[in-house]
Amino acid sequence: MSPHHPCWVMCQPGQLGSVDAMTDRYDVIIVGTGAGGGTLAHALAPTGKKILLLERGSFLPREMANWDPGAVFVDGRYMSADIWYDADGKPFQPQVHYYVGGATKMYGAALYRLRPADFGEIKFADGISPAWPLSYDDFEPFYARAEWLYQVHGKHGEDPTEGTWSKQYPWPAVSHEPRVQQISDDLAAAGYHPFHAPCGILLNEADRPASTCIRCAWCDGYPCLVHAKADAETIAVRPVLDRPNVTLLVNAEVIQLKTDRSGRTVTEVLLRRGSGYETYSADIVVLAAGAANTARILLGSASDQHPTGLANGSDQVGRNYMFHNSKAVAALAKEPNETVYQKTLALNDFYLASDSGHGPLGNIQMLGKSNAMAMKGEEPKLTRLAPHWSLEEAARHSVDFWLTTEDLPRPDNRVTVDGDGRIHLSYTWTNQSEATALYGELKTILNKTGMPAHHVLDKNFYMDMSIPIAGVAHQAGSCRFGTDPASSVLDTDCKAHELDNLYVADSSFFPSIGAVNPGLTVMANALRVGDHLAKRLG
Ligand SMILES: Cc1cc2nc3c(=O)[nH]c(=O)nc-3n(C[C@H](O)[C@H](O)[C@H](O)COP(=O)(O)OP(=O)(O)OC[C@H]3O[C@@H](n4cnc5c(N)ncnc54)[C@H](O)[C@@H]3O)c2cc1C
Repeated sequence: MSPHHPCWVMCQPGQLGSVDAMTDRYDVIIVGTGAGGGTLAHALAPTGKKILLLERGSFLPREMANWDPGAVFVDGRYMSADIWYDADGKPFQPQVHYYVGGATKMYGAALYRLRPADFGEIKFADGISPAWPLSYDDFEPFYARAEWLYQVHGKHGEDPTEGTWSKQYPWPAVSHEPRVQQISDDLAAAGYHPFHAPCGILLNEADRPASTCIRCAWCDGYPCLVHAKADAETIAVRPVLDRPNVTLLVNAEVIQLKTDRSGRTVTEVLLRRGSGYETYSADIVVLAAGAANTARILLGSASDQHPTGLANGSDQVGRNYMFHNSKAVAALAKEPNETVYQKTLALNDFYLASDSGHGPLGNIQMLGKSNAMAMKGEEPKLTRLAPHWSLEEAARHSVDFWLTTEDLPRPDNRVTVDGDGRIHLSYTWTNQSEATALYGELKTILNKTGMPAHHVLDKNFYMDMSIPIAGVAHQAGSCRFGTDPASSVLDTDCKAHELDNLYVADSSFFPSIGAVNPGLTVMANALRVGDHLAKRLG
């Protein structure tokens, strides 16, 4: 069977395309196949340039366990076995997923643009969220392209905080199920501005590929068994694998980059595959291994020319790590909530500072529907003594929200690497007062949307799960881009200031993170970097 045959890809993860480490030279090597790396590969594939994709993981197996909350949330079946260490040296298992498609294999596919205000400076009680070196208008065309590539359903023009848009979404907004529609109507009647959340799912529309989303409850936090979630594997990587100029090597963990004597050019990419080591080379090397792992590779590539780590003359690599100050909240109502696909509604009334006095607080969106096993996996201590039936009952009645407050880039919130190459993550929370205030606003909203009358308890009861340090799903910022080489790692093309042929195209480049999900911005930026590289490569 041809190595490019889709069944071969599905059934036998391994090496696609023939690779000879000793003799092959590539135009571009891309490390990582997630939102950044996968999208970049998709953008560059039509150039005909010889591209090698290096992916630490393999293809995520398609199996019934994809949709089993016990396997996914309790057993952590798809989580990496990686152990990282916090500031006190305490080990923890980060919620990272090493597969073709990266974190997008598990993501909720809520694909938001940052708001124009996010590109400027924003003041919070704990400090400043810095301005980006580019504006919203610079990103807008790439947002539009990313929305079309990732098949986003939505409706521009509903949310007053969004920026201008050059193209409507490719597909209409996903309609609300009755309970969510009721909440939306109640919110609008109370003077709020609910809008349809942008969803990257492949509903059964004209021109659809074979996979069709059935709007199941297993989307947010689960791999999609039927490949109908717009993730980086399905949308970006698989479609280019049959091109002769694209080669994917899986189970290939990049551990170091080596440079020439001048220190300005990456000449070798060293990786571990099985029990052996291999090196590859290319004119251009792009890191897209995720914010923590990209920093790890750079810090682990220290040399005489770059004694503190590659591209790290500024001492900024690994610093300014962000991951959002997020909360998952389940409001328990007396009436059951029969919604299956719940992530269709969002609210940005508290995103910007208001005339009535509150500062910028963040985004409220609906979350994938709670279920008993997921509650157990997410909160083992809180739910340990609860009988399973009580959790099932709670899940049946829950209405679930995800609250996101921006966290601030702090130099001491950083990734470092020890002598054994292990990741250490130091993190101190920021913007707690804003996160608490946003939670307060949600409670007010619930009171205004008629939920108290239906609540199980006399008074409102909310299960509030703040996301701990291991919740690295939204990791960003470890190699920020900027115009000043003293305070940033990358220039505005996402090329390392100190090297001529090294780029970064994952969430590391964020100078600040805003308060909406980061995926679409990573994809849009990868398309932007792709345009630059296509020009550079001629
Ligand atoms: C459960 C979950 C839900 C989420 N929900 C949403 C959502 O609804 N909306 C949204 O916008 N965002 C969401 N996110 C976040 C989003 O998925 C990430 O922001 C985005 O994928 C980051 O892109 P990236 O390219 O930086 O990293 P990734 O997509 O993680 O890609 C990094 C890739 O590099 C590979 N890699 C790592 N180290 C190496 C190495 N040394 N050598 C070779 N390869 C390596 C990894 O295996 C991976 O394939 C969610 C994430 C998770 C985990």
